[in-house]
Amino acid sequence: MLIRKLFRFENTHIVRGCSTRRCSHSIHGHSYKVELLLEAHALDYGQMVYDFGLLKGEVHTLIDAFDHAVALWSGDDPTYLEAMRRHSERWVLIPVSPSAEQFSRLFFRLVDTALSQTDMNNGESDVRLHSVIVHETETGYAQCFREDADNPRMGYIDLNAIEFAPTIVREWCDSGLFERLKQGAHRALDRSVDPAKVSINASEFSEDVAHTNNELVRDYKAIQNEF
Ligand SMILES: [Zn+2]
Repeated sequence: MLIRKLFRFENTHIVRGCSTRRCSHSIHGHSYKVELLLEAHALDYGQMVYDFGLLKGEVHTLIDAFDHAVALWSGDDPTYLEAMRRHSERWVLIPVSPSAEQFSRLFFRLVDTALSQTDMNNGESDVRLHSVIVHETETGYAQCFREDADNPRMGYIDLNAIEFAPTIVREWCDSGLFERLKQGAHRALDRSVDPAKVSINASEFSEDVAHTNNELVRDYKAIQNEF
């Protein structure tokens, strides 16, 4: 069974490399809708898959952090990044371009990390994040499944490479929320994976990421020269 919870936020961005010039060269905004789809094959003591109330805490905080903020890709022009951070106090720096596709992967990683560290004590059974849908407009959306979230060919989303503006973090009930989630994710990885396997994957992975990043930067520079 699937259940779905909807969140909304307003955000602004530039999507470098996008074929539409309005998207790739002008700061513009969207009213985003984010659908979290949770999957389970048994019900809890309340005969529910998952109490939506549990999503009002950390998961809501993480998604709401993007509201009335500018999403900045760390691979963008450093002078643009510096100017935006100087003139706008709500920004989120992310390691991938802020397209709807990458937002869906980013939210999958964030929400999955938060859910994996949420205490479930009402008999919830095997509930897990099924997918995340991000609507950028009324007519189109991107849906990220688990295999997409960890797909290095789409760029690696390292939680350590995400940075929330100090103004955003100060608003949180727990300003250490994101640091705690990252540490928890790191501990879970240590426990679940054979260290030898990690070292092999890590070296392959970094080459792949470096290659992808170089390609993105090259494309971006080529586009800049074109205009
Ligand atoms: Zn856009």
